[in-house]
Order: sequence, then C-alpha cells, then structure tokens
Amino acid sequence: MDTLCVVPIRATKRGDDRTPLQGGCDVLVCGASFAGLAVARELAGSGADVLVVDRYEIGERQTSACGIPTEWLEATGLIGAERQRFDSLLLHTPHGDARYRLPWTFSTFDYRELCALLWEQCDTRFETAKVNGLVESNGDAAIAVETDRGEISAPLVVDALGWRRVLATGDGYQPPDAPLSRGLEVHPEGSGPDLEVWIDRRYVPAGYGWSFPAGDELRIGVGSFDPRFHVRETTELLAEDLERERVRYQGNWIPHELRGATGNGVFFAGDSAGHCLPLTAEGIRTALYFGIALGRELRGVVDGWQDREQAAARYARFHDSHEWKFRWMLRAQRLVPKIPPRVLGPLIRLLGVKRFVDWSFGHYLRIAPPELAAGSAHDQDRADEQQDDADRPLGAERDLVQAE
Ligand SMILES: Cc1cc2nc3c(=O)[nH]c(=O)nc-3n(C[C@H](O)[C@H](O)[C@H](O)COP(=O)(O)OP(=O)(O)OC[C@H]3O[C@@H](n4cnc5c(N)ncnc54)[C@H](O)[C@@H]3O)c2cc1C
Repeated sequence: MDTLCVVPIRATKRGDDRTPLQGGCDVLVCGASFAGLAVARELAGSGADVLVVDRYEIGERQTSACGIPTEWLEATGLIGAERQRFDSLLLHTPHGDARYRLPWTFSTFDYRELCALLWEQCDTRFETAKVNGLVESNGDAAIAVETDRGEISAPLVVDALGWRRVLATGDGYQPPDAPLSRGLEVHPEGSGPDLEVWIDRRYVPAGYGWSFPAGDELRIGVGSFDPRFHVRETTELLAEDLERERVRYQGNWIPHELRGATGNGVFFAGDSAGHCLPLTAEGIRTALYFGIALGRELRGVVDGWQDREQAAARYARFHDSHEWKFRWMLRAQRLVPKIPPRVLGPLIRLLGVKRFVDWSFGHYLRIAPPELAAGSAHDQDRADEQQDDADRPLGAERDLVQAE
C-alpha cells in the first residue's frame, strides 16, 4: 500500500499482558470487524463457547469511509453510530455534474461506535492475537489455528480477516496481480452537506474519488480499480482541490472478485471471501450480510440441526447464488473507465432521471437487502432462492454469456 505519513499506535495487548492463549472453543472467529462481529452476533444466546480474536482491540482500526445504506444501520440496531444521512449523490465529471436523488438514504457512521454496538449484541469472549495461519490438519474434527499467542482449535473456524484470507492455503493471491483495487483516504476535520463522487481521470484513470462527510469529519479518498495505479498523490490532490487538510490517512486493498466461501473446513466472510462489491467498493453492508448468513448456519450446527459439512454446503450455496450479481458489477467496473470523458458527463446526466435512478439503485440495494438482518435462517433460504431466480434478468444474462 502507499506509505502512510504517521504510523498510529493501536490498542492491543503488549508485553506481559500477552499471555499464552491456548486451548479450544466451539467457534473461533478470526477478525473483529464487520464480518467477524456479524458472525458472532448470530451466535449470541446459543450457549456455544465462541472466541473472537483480532490483532487490535475492537473498533481500534477504522477500515473504511464508513458509508452504508441507512436501512442497514436500522435493521441491525446500529443506528446509534450514524453521523450523517444523505438523500442524494452528487456526481462530478470533467464535463459536468449531476445530482441523483436516491430512492433510499445513505449514512456515514463512526467506526468505533458501530463496532461497540455490534459487540454489545454478542456474548462471546474476545482476545487480541495476531493470526498467523492454519496448523497442519491432523485429521481431527477440530481445526487448529496458529496465533502469536499460541494455538487455538475449534470445530468451527471463521476467517473474517480481510482480503489477505490468512486461513486459506497459499494461493499466491497478492497485489498487484490479484484482482484487488487500491483505496486511500484522508480524514480532515470539516463538514459538508453532500455525498460526493468524482469520475475524473485527473484523480484516477479507472476508479473514482469521494468525499463522505461524517458530522465534523470528512473522508476524502481515491480508489483505483487498477492495483498498479498509486493513489497517494491523487488523494492528496483531491484534498488540496477541496482545500482540506491531508491528515489521518487510512488505506487498504479492496477485493473486487468473489473467492470461495469455504475451504479446508474454514468459513470465509467479508473481504476474505471477496464480498466487497465491484464498481462501488461497498463492502461493509455485504460483510454484515454474509457474516449474518454465515452466523446463522453455524448456529444451526451449534443447535444440532445440521453438521459442519451441511452448514458449509448451505453457506456456499448462498454465496454462489450472488455470484451473477457480482459479475454484473464487475462488468460495469470494467466498462466505466472505457467511456470517453466527454460522453461521460452527458451520460451521467441522462442516467440521472428519477425512473432510472430508482430502478438501478433499487436493484443495487437488493444485492444485499437489509431485510436479511431481521430474519432467520428460513428467510435466508428465501433470499437465496430470490437471488437465484426472481431477480435475474435471464434473457440479458444469457445473451451476455453467449457473447463472451
Ligand atoms: C479507503 C477505503 C474506503 C472504503 N470505504 C467504504 C465505504 O464507505 N463503505 C463500504 O461499504 N465499504 C468501504 N470500503 C470497503 C470496506 O472497508 C471493506 O469491504 C470492509 O471493511 C470489509 O469488512 P471485513 O470485516 O471483511 O474486513 P476488515 O474490515 O478489513 O476487517 C478485518 C479485521 O481483521 C483483522 N485482522 C487482519 N489481519 C489479521 C491477523 N493476521 N490477525 C488478527 N487480526 C487480523 C483486522 O484488524 C480487522 O479488524 C472501503 C475500503 C477502503 C480501503
């Protein structure tokens, strides 16, 4: 990643506090951000011994601009972390701007507060530990995970560790060759009324810039679909153009292709499974969505109505049923940078008609609808079927596949 100006000291256990951590539990959730905490939340009240581990304390390291459809905050009981709400999106191109009136509102939130609220919904143990990888399987039903505080084993293990997918066996998935986007932002003090996006090659040849106000802070950044394009200079350029300070950098790689939902007995959710949406790089709602879905399958194992293999098959099916939508988003991601800039401005204004915005943003929300958060494993089956059937523009999809 681009180098960061100041390396902040993150809250974690140090020195003598880093006592050996060994033994077993029923469910081991690695990663305590959106996906990991969503999994743990679904296991609350199950009576299972659930251990969540992360290299930092919960909520310590903000991993995004923290923008999400408001309905998701409401459906998950996390609305208390909201900072600002927007009913429109202001799009800038070199050849004109357009304001899209959204059919649903979008919110920015405080990362630390959101994680604290999610944690309140869990009744699990938490430890700070750096996860190093899987220990060679000894044929036992329990899976052993190596951490810097010792080996922990559990029959049910979740990797919610982000794009590195630490618990997968080495597949050489590394930037800049892997399908990863690059994102970097600064967090200056300041405020603004609009959720703004720039599609402008001055900032990035393939990707976009953004400014997300969050109360008294702005999150200004640039994301590049091309991992070889360095975004540091242009993130600073965008901040400079907006006359904002270039402070408090945060950046990461962002996956833009799905990866396996399971492997070697381990379950993957969030960025580790490539659940971040191509084109928009929206990965919080999907991390919560797939995390909740996975948590419910694991709960089925804990409650005794299915075994690990059945849970793996059901979760993989749920994951796979979304694949075609991710593929469509990826096609759009590849197409947008090819549109000549002089066409882009008028095109964006044309597509801004209410009917089209309502239709496209409605479909976009349905990729990971908030209703799932309030439902049960049964609703999940229904969502699964819907992803497979009702929503799919069969003819169009078939034509495209044939054309390829
Ligand atoms: C600059 C930028 C801005 C973004 N803005 C948005 C946005 O506004 N809205 C949106 O929806 N998405 C946004 N995204 C994408 C979003 O951040 C991710 O898709 C989302 O964070 C994925 O959630 P996750 O829980 O899977 O992984 P993460 O949020 O990446 O969490 C992984 C967790 O695992 C821990 N961890 C990692 N490795 C180890 C290890 N070896 N041992 C122990 N713990 C470890 C980390 O500390 C972390 O807590 C943005 C991404 C970037 C880079």
